[in-house]
Amino acid sequence: MHKKALITGGSGEIGQAICRRLAKDGYFVYIGYAGSKETAENIADELHGTAIKIDVTKRDDIMSAVEKTGTVDLLVNNAGISEIELFNCISEQKSREIMEINLVGAMNCTRAYLSGMIHKKSGCIINISSMWGQVGASCEVDYSASKAGLIGFTKALAKETAPSGIRVNCVSPGFIMTEMNSRFSAEELELIREEIPLGIFGEPHHVADSVAFLASNQAEYITGQIIAVNGGMVI
Ligand code: NAP
Repeated sequence: MHKKALITGGSGEIGQAICRRLAKDGYFVYIGYAGSKETAENIADELHGTAIKIDVTKRDDIMSAVEKTGTVDLLVNNAGISEIELFNCISEQKSREIMEINLVGAMNCTRAYLSGMIHKKSGCIINISSMWGQVGASCEVDYSASKAGLIGFTKALAKETAPSGIRVNCVSPGFIMTEMNSRFSAEELELIREEIPLGIFGEPHHVADSVAFLASNQAEYITGQIIAVNGGMVI
């Protein structure tokens, strides 16, 4: 019997890499999407999985996803948005949206799936944070705060749920070459690249490989940890 994994934001670039890697590792994957239905359905066809509409800000979406999937073995809270803007210029609405999707959405999805995991006395939750959640980024204050929140959430929930056989960990990516970074010019990207000790940008599969490790039995004694996947940019 296949283990089941739900990946929120499975339609995005990192999400797709996570879905592909977990399917390769034998999971039945539920590909969460908010707006990119067609992309999610294409990945579902490719991986023999199921696309699930789950806007993490909508309680009805979350509850209907739980109904469709039943208890999952692995929940990957990957959905996220970012915005580059000075803190005192960003709109309150955008600020709230960042928090609602990146942090509160992950917490609400986790809450919805946790009771099934507690009942089974097993489960694995992986939150996708960011190196900016560890060290903070100028002009991404709201994003940094949401991702720092995910780190605190990971550590506290790991302590609370370990007695129930549930592991909670976090992957904290650095600069991963995806659409999210398409706003940078070639010159800006070159300056950023020079700051990366390994000298190259990360790729979605680097994040997916760490997710796969944390989900595997090889990580059975690891909980509450933040695995940085950043080429040495933040140490
Ligand atoms: P991406 O390609 O823009 O994907 C973002 C994903 O989030 C999409 O699948 C999108 O779904 C989903 N999403 C947006 N709003 C949502 C909502 N309200 N409810 C549910 N899903 C929603 O970004 P990415 O680069 O793959 O990033 C994935 C994660 O990695 C994010 O949490 C991001 O913060 C984190 N991260 C990325 C980098 C990087 O350099 N790329 C670095 C550090 C951390 P739809 O398209 O279906 O709407």
